[in-house]
Amino acid sequence: MSVQDVGVMTPSKGQDYVAGLMAEVKAKNPAEPEFHQAVQEVAESLSLVLERHPEYRAHRILERIIEPERVLMFRVPWLDDQGHVQVNRGFRIEMNSAIGPYKGGLRFHPSVNLGILKFLAFEQVFKNSLTTLPMGGGKGGSDFDPKGKSDNEVMRFCQSFMTELARHIGPDTDVPAGDIGVGGREIGFLFGQYKRLRNEFTGVLTGKGLNWGGSLIRPEATGYGCVYFASEMLKTRKQTLEGKVCLVSGSGNVSQYTVEKLLDLGARPVTLSDSNGFIYDEEGIDREKLAWVMELKNVKRGRIQEYTGKFRKAVYTPLDTRIDYNPLWNIRATCAFPSATQNEINVKDAANLIKNGVTVVAEGANMPSMLEATRAFLEARIMYGPAKAANAGGVATSGLEMSQNSMRLSWTREEVDDRLHKIMIAIHSNCYETAEKYGTPGNLVNGANIAGFLKVADAMLDQGLV
Ligand code: NDP
Repeated sequence: MSVQDVGVMTPSKGQDYVAGLMAEVKAKNPAEPEFHQAVQEVAESLSLVLERHPEYRAHRILERIIEPERVLMFRVPWLDDQGHVQVNRGFRIEMNSAIGPYKGGLRFHPSVNLGILKFLAFEQVFKNSLTTLPMGGGKGGSDFDPKGKSDNEVMRFCQSFMTELARHIGPDTDVPAGDIGVGGREIGFLFGQYKRLRNEFTGVLTGKGLNWGGSLIRPEATGYGCVYFASEMLKTRKQTLEGKVCLVSGSGNVSQYTVEKLLDLGARPVTLSDSNGFIYDEEGIDREKLAWVMELKNVKRGRIQEYTGKFRKAVYTPLDTRIDYNPLWNIRATCAFPSATQNEINVKDAANLIKNGVTVVAEGANMPSMLEATRAFLEARIMYGPAKAANAGGVATSGLEMSQNSMRLSWTREEVDDRLHKIMIAIHSNCYETAEKYGTPGNLVNGANIAGFLKVADAMLDQGLV
């Protein structure tokens, strides 16, 4: 099929094209602001590519990438401990399978809706492409809130959720993993139900327990990978993390292992948060304190406020929704690792970070910076590692778990960590070089969006109009 055969959308400039595309995205996907935001950022970067490669425009690759291949939405009924019927909504967005089976996490959080999962699935397509591994993009989850639920309630919910999801996924089709609210406990219940329904023991989920198909380093991978990425950014300016004061938000999986790797590399992490507030420990969160936080969050399922009861010099600041910035991002530091959730850094927070001396922002969470905040980081020319590159270590190690499952063997901790480290180095250099090649040196947002896009776009061209 030639360029001429398929009808070219030919607005005169890249900007017009992006504006036209965004008008269509908003009209077709109303009330999905996070999805609009994610598409806008990518489309702006890609205007550089589409001008050089008219074949992508002609084949409407971007218009196809923003349309999920399949969206599943289903009822999840379950019984609570009082015997009352509860009903939640389940989702799986199968976004793009051009370079491999759909791959991406499941999020259980009351804020989950179609638009949030579409933004996450969209981001995942580019991220997975960057990992160098053959994985397509997907995302799923539910508005179920595991907080305050008993283990039995979580199990009944997971079993009901998987009863429907099982018919749509498989090791060569779609391989979910964890995300916010979905950790080892939930993956266990989901896997158990899948195995029971399908009567097969297979690598259909990643993040599994170590003695039933999981990979060493998978729990650590997103946080470790994000710190490896930050180190690579620093290397370009001949610096290291040694002695640097670091702000970390969140206190879940990504945050915990970000702190652990920062300690390994001699940095001083000083903050952690949850949805109620944050702690600031000026002396630094050391290994002993981190072990206590892990017990608090992963076993006792407590709140971060309790930290100050144990470590008296730390200060707790509760969330104050009346102010238009987050004081966590207003503390003097050199590096910031937003690792909680989307849009946790607004333009004022970005200005505060820059004002307080932050020169490295590595995003552990997905899309933690609003568009204006992203622009502020780029304008200030700080070392800014966007989520789809900086936090790709998690899904990359999921990819390594899939490989080990297929081969029915387990690599050592050192082997997986070494592969993860090399992947993060490769992602960084790919983004860095791509940014340079497309005329925006140092802009890793463009680098990540363009490099992630090219691999998927070329596969889509090769595979025809599907
Ligand atoms: P967890 O559920 O383990 O932890 C999430 C943390 O973020 C908790 O401290 C939680 O606080 C806080 N948080 C969640 N929602 C909000 C909110 N609306 N406002 C303020 N704080 C909030 O999740 P993960 O650590 O796995 O995920 C964190 C981020 O990293 C997400 O953006 C996720 O998409 C991203 N990510 C995760 C990967 C992984 O491998 N797990 C891979 C790549 C990205 P509280 O307990 O109060 O809810």
